Amino acid sequence: MVTSAFAYHAPTSVSEAARLLAEHGDEAKLLAGGHSLIPLMKLRLSEPSVLIDLGKIEGMSYIREADGGGLAVGAMTTYADLQRSDLVRSGAPVLADAAAQVADQQVRNLGTLGGSLAHADPAGDMPAVVIALNAELVTSSTGGHRRISIDDFFVDLLTTALEPNEILNEISIPALAAGSGSAYAKFGNKASHYAIVGVAAVVTVDGSGNCSGASIGVTGAGPTAVRASDAEAALVGSSLDDAAIDAAAGAAGNGIEFNEDVHASADYRAHLTSVYAGRAIRAAIANAG
Ligand SMILES: Cc1cc2nc3c(=O)[nH]c(=O)nc-3n(C[C@H](O)[C@H](O)[C@H](O)COP(=O)(O)OP(=O)(O)OC[C@H]3O[C@@H](n4cnc5c(N)ncnc54)[C@H](O)[C@@H]3O)c2cc1C
Repeated sequence: MVTSAFAYHAPTSVSEAARLLAEHGDEAKLLAGGHSLIPLMKLRLSEPSVLIDLGKIEGMSYIREADGGGLAVGAMTTYADLQRSDLVRSGAPVLADAAAQVADQQVRNLGTLGGSLAHADPAGDMPAVVIALNAELVTSSTGGHRRISIDDFFVDLLTTALEPNEILNEISIPALAAGSGSAYAKFGNKASHYAIVGVAAVVTVDGSGNCSGASIGVTGAGPTAVRASDAEAALVGSSLDDAAIDAAAGAAGNGIEFNEDVHASADYRAHLTSVYAGRAIRAAIANAG
């Protein structure tokens, strides 16, 4: 199918894009890599009459060390950029590893971190990863800038805390604590590689081998990616022995209303959540060593 007719704008600055978004309101959609939006438009599940392409804006695609530590990643940064970045590999390795697991190289060459987060696909990989990394999201609109904690960002299926007039501008990732290891483990759809269940874990190990911090995000399991708070609590303060890891893995699905679809039943997703949480936690601990 072909899309409905739309007017196309290619602003060259964030402020111009914000002005266009404010002007056209609900009629407009931002276009990033287009790998989620264009298929929806072709199916006529989304019919914006105005498309605002962010691709011509210089300065929305970057990866830099942030003042005071951590990383600042522009929303238009592609998976391929994340995958290949030495800064990401050293500062937030789980982001590079997970980006390498998204779809295929063609999708990774165009799909963006910002597009993935703004789209909030329940099977997207990045939401779990940015939860585990405790990211903060920076938005722009004609009204100025706003910072949104990742814990407040994913609201429901395909729904985020972004206001209709806001552009996701930057993903701010705090520096990992010394002694941290991270990992992403997913059970992916064999055709698309979307996460049927994916778990990202950051685990901090102190000098005695005990867990001094844990941050775990789960995607694919329910309508939106979530923080596995009970699993984190089960790890922190533990000696990270098998019993503690198994308890954390078993708690990773607490509070999730599991999706049920052609790919997996709710019970199977619950099982996968525990299994993949255990794998991600064990790999994160190994990477901390
Ligand atoms: C064959 C195929 C396989 C895929 N497999 C996977 C997979 O294994 N794992 C995975 O995670 N994803 C997968 N995807 C999805 C892919 O990662 C998409 O690129 C991603 O979900 C959306 O990013 P995008 O840059 O293409 O955004 P777009 O499609 O351009 O936009 C998506 C939505 O976000 C909004 N948006 C985009 N950028 C911004 C912004 N800066 N501020 C505010 N709103 C914005 C748009 O208006 C739109 O509503 C797959 C896609 C395809 C086509």
